[in-house]
Amino acid sequence: MTKHTAFAADDAITAAAVTSQPGRRFTSYPPPTRARGGCRVAAAAAAARQATDPGAVVVAVGSLPELVPRHADLDFENWMEKHPSALAEFESVLAAAKGKQIVMFLDYDGTLSPIVKDPDSAVMSEEMRDAVRGVAEHFPTAIVSGRCRDKVFNFVKLAELYYAGSHGMDIKGPTAQSKHTKAKAEAVLCQPASAFLPVIDEVYRTLTARTAPIPGATVENNKFCLSVHFRCVHEEKWRALEEQVRSVLKEYPDLRLTKGRKVLEIRPSIEWDKGNALQFLLESLGFADSNNVFPIYIGDDRTDEDAFKVLRSMGQGIGILVSKIPKETSASYSLREPSEVKEFLRKLVRSKQRD
Ligand SMILES: [Mg+2]
Repeated sequence: MTKHTAFAADDAITAAAVTSQPGRRFTSYPPPTRARGGCRVAAAAAAARQATDPGAVVVAVGSLPELVPRHADLDFENWMEKHPSALAEFESVLAAAKGKQIVMFLDYDGTLSPIVKDPDSAVMSEEMRDAVRGVAEHFPTAIVSGRCRDKVFNFVKLAELYYAGSHGMDIKGPTAQSKHTKAKAEAVLCQPASAFLPVIDEVYRTLTARTAPIPGATVENNKFCLSVHFRCVHEEKWRALEEQVRSVLKEYPDLRLTKGRKVLEIRPSIEWDKGNALQFLLESLGFADSNNVFPIYIGDDRTDEDAFKVLRSMGQGIGILVSKIPKETSASYSLREPSEVKEFLRKLVRSKQRD
């Protein structure tokens, strides 16, 4: 087995990457300051992690045992210094955004909704919907998801938002008029991978058949990309599942495989990701090369890193990673879970109402 067995434990691997680079520091904007709580936060996080995930200390990960972390060793405090809580540092975020137009970008799974075993059950709470609705009243707001656009719209159900589905390969503007748009966007704004639709359909059918003997494996058709979920697959079968997926993809060199949180993602090999979607939407909103825009991107997955990197290269706005454990990330700030995302969005609305 080759290095690609690394898909087995996403959180574990990213956490290990952090500990392997203890001296690494990012130059984020605005510069993050020391997180509040210090050792107490670190100890509480470690205790919570071990309580909720008793298998976390010893995890068998295919052929890469060197990547298995001991969570007790993770330097959560050090990580929080580099990626402080966006709630604790809320006033710093506001100060950096002062005088600029905030544009909000939100991932869906693991950001607005909790990660659940059945991807079709990843519903969003009414409280979260209210928070997103409130933000969209004040700022242009987009949902950027790996899901197909229709599916994520059916979860969010807010017509005043932009939606970028299939990892940004299917973008459409608001279907309801809002003060951020001159008119309803009846047409799709961008579909850079439309030529791949027949291939994606074909691979979906093949993968569905080939993974059927593996209990718990599900293949989700996200129109311009596919997701093979293995959250419900017994760990002993993870390797066999990945081998099946790779053997199918050998016939399709124009498709590529990436890994998320207990999911294998299959996408067209085009230079287009969530970072491109963020740039496209900023341009669509009239902020190309603008110094007066402050994009805020909140996401929890590896695919969100492309957007965090774009923000860093722009030197504008902030990326916020949703995570309870240290992960290598280009985000400047962190939030622990969707409930903190909801609180952050509410605070943003309250701050706008104060103005
Ligand atoms: Mg996500």
